[in-house]
Amino acid sequence: MESGLSARDRVGVQDFLLLDNYTSEAAFIENLRRRYKENLIYTYIGSVLVSVNPYRELEIYSKQHMERYRGVNFYEISPHIYALADNSYRAVRTERKDQCILISGESGAGKTEASKKVLQYYTTMCPTRNNTQSIRERLLQSTPVLEAFGNAKTLRNDNSSRFGKYMDVQFDYKGAPIGGHILNYLLEKSRVVHQNHGERNFHIFYQLLESGDGALLKRLGLDRTNPQQYHYLVKVRPSLCVCAKSNIVIYSCNIGNCPRVSSISDKNSWKVVSKAFTVIGFNEEEVEELLKVVASVLHLGNTQFGEDEYGETHLTTEMPIKYMIGPLSLEQAVSARDALAKAIYGRTFTWLVQKINQSLAFQVSALKCSSVIGLLDIYGFEVFQNNSFEQFCINYCNEKLQQLFIELTLKSEQEEYEAEGIGWETVEYFNNKIICDLVEEKFKGIIAILDEECLRPGDACDLTFLEKLEDRLGGHAHFVTHKLANGKIRKAVGREEFRLLHYAGEVNYNINGFLDKNNDLLYRNLKEVIMMMIEGFTLLSCGQAATQFKLSLAKLMDILMSKQPSYIRCIKPNDAKQPGRFEEVLVRHQVKYLGLMENLRVRRAGFAYRRSFEAFLQRYKPLCPDTWPNWQGKLSDGVSTLVKHLDYKAEEYKLGRSKIFIRFPKTLFLTEDALEL
Ligand code: ATP
Ligand code: MG
Repeated sequence: MESGLSARDRVGVQDFLLLDNYTSEAAFIENLRRRYKENLIYTYIGSVLVSVNPYRELEIYSKQHMERYRGVNFYEISPHIYALADNSYRAVRTERKDQCILISGESGAGKTEASKKVLQYYTTMCPTRNNTQSIRERLLQSTPVLEAFGNAKTLRNDNSSRFGKYMDVQFDYKGAPIGGHILNYLLEKSRVVHQNHGERNFHIFYQLLESGDGALLKRLGLDRTNPQQYHYLVKVRPSLCVCAKSNIVIYSCNIGNCPRVSSISDKNSWKVVSKAFTVIGFNEEEVEELLKVVASVLHLGNTQFGEDEYGETHLTTEMPIKYMIGPLSLEQAVSARDALAKAIYGRTFTWLVQKINQSLAFQVSALKCSSVIGLLDIYGFEVFQNNSFEQFCINYCNEKLQQLFIELTLKSEQEEYEAEGIGWETVEYFNNKIICDLVEEKFKGIIAILDEECLRPGDACDLTFLEKLEDRLGGHAHFVTHKLANGKIRKAVGREEFRLLHYAGEVNYNINGFLDKNNDLLYRNLKEVIMMMIEGFTLLSCGQAATQFKLSLAKLMDILMSKQPSYIRCIKPNDAKQPGRFEEVLVRHQVKYLGLMENLRVRRAGFAYRRSFEAFLQRYKPLCPDTWPNWQGKLSDGVSTLVKHLDYKAEEYKLGRSKIFIRFPKTLFLTEDALEL
């Protein structure tokens, strides 16, 4: 415990539950700021860990640090991600109860770094069995491979994960890691064919071109001397251009143009990824097959279309009893090509995850998984100037996670109060189930309406979808469009938008592209070609992706519900990716969207602080002649004697069966200060 008033003033409190003014957002942010200034990037809200990205390497992740945190109680030394990792591990060992660690935060806030640190902690600190050494390496090496294929440079993060990831680490009865399993969510496939200015495609394209062996590139038909020739990697003005040689009209629109980035060494990463492939157990052939697919995407991007004498290209469409050949415009042909490239890449990614999972499955049949720690690294709430289908899915996911958080936090509070024989105190909180239902309810929810519109033949389009939403959900307390009930226009919502009132705030969603993205369909004949080309690839239609996402989220929620959760909430202190800069407005925004004040309020509804009799007595026994140097009687009597001597008032505390509960931080601070005297 950081004690003494001056130290507390300087570095703030290490647990927000100890903030006097716990409902004040300003006090919350000031506490974060003070700690950040002192390079104290971790702070608790009870068992929740808040982490602020330092944007510099701190000397707090060594093996010695790991050892310092092994086996210690959460509150005994300064907050750390290792304390949280160790806490979950101990619960696995002693209670045999599966754990999960949920990491959230916006892009660049440090989620992936946090999950890597947790994984490093387990692979370094947990006991090894002779035959499980390789699994540790595999667990660690799965990360660079997935990052090469699933991460990219964006404006907000040079190594941004463009997919959600849930990873189980499986332990045997002795606590040795013996296996793992990964689930992936919502890969941002659109990046394959389009990047915003200043952003890049997935790392693997640049790594391969920059560092792939010359002979390999030759076999793949790639040429590194001029990466600019690959349309999917470079800037081309969004326009229709005419190729002078063939007089063919080419339609191009990707605008990344950011092949080299100072913070990224594609050469080094390639070395790391190549080694990781070997550790995970890919043979050379498999790696080459995989890279062939990567190369094929680049080649596909360079496919050009020409118009015939009627100004058309052609597409075969499947009808109930026969195929029909119909014309495509150039624009449609390009979008069919891009859909194919996205599908190939998306399925390759899924295949890669499956392959890694095979490698992480127990290699020794005699091994039995006794318990599991799951790590969830998933996008936080997203609110941009323009929010589309992707933000809709991500924010829906965050609503579900918030619901889980509320249920589990309240449940664990309630269970603890019951176990300790303390009367339950009702907690007022906003139950966001109403918003989850609005999105996911069968037949009535937004996803159901979207699916219905996607399947409806005829004139269905994004606008008819919006009309249907208006018709069916118009009166809902959390759904708004530009139309006001009195027939007037609400200016804050565009005509092609709907607004959801999320638990964390309002978000306007632009409906353009909702139907297409939800359909995620590939032209059938393109699928057939590709199935012939790539043996073993199952290019099935994705069906309605929002529904798929809903189902996989429901599965994820079941997985998480069956485990004891811990939370890491990551905060990005500035947009410039610079150390030492704490931008208050930006931080306030995240405190809001991460629901941290609500976290704190729920946790503080009852007692600010709780500690086992033993730990409490151990720490404060010098303050009372009857308990010092050692209390001989029952622990609860010792604590009673101690708090009476300290003059605690009845409303300030309660004694449970094994713990003391203290209502106000001030009581604890005065006791801490007395220790200092
Ligand atoms: P995204 O949602 O875009 O994937 P993220 O939350 O996963 O973002 P990270 O990739 O983990 O963000 O972090 C972004 C960058 O911030 C890292 O590449 C690293 O430079 C820096 N960073 C994050 N956490 C730490 C840390 N604990 N110590 C030092 N640097 C860090
Ligand atoms: Mg990430």
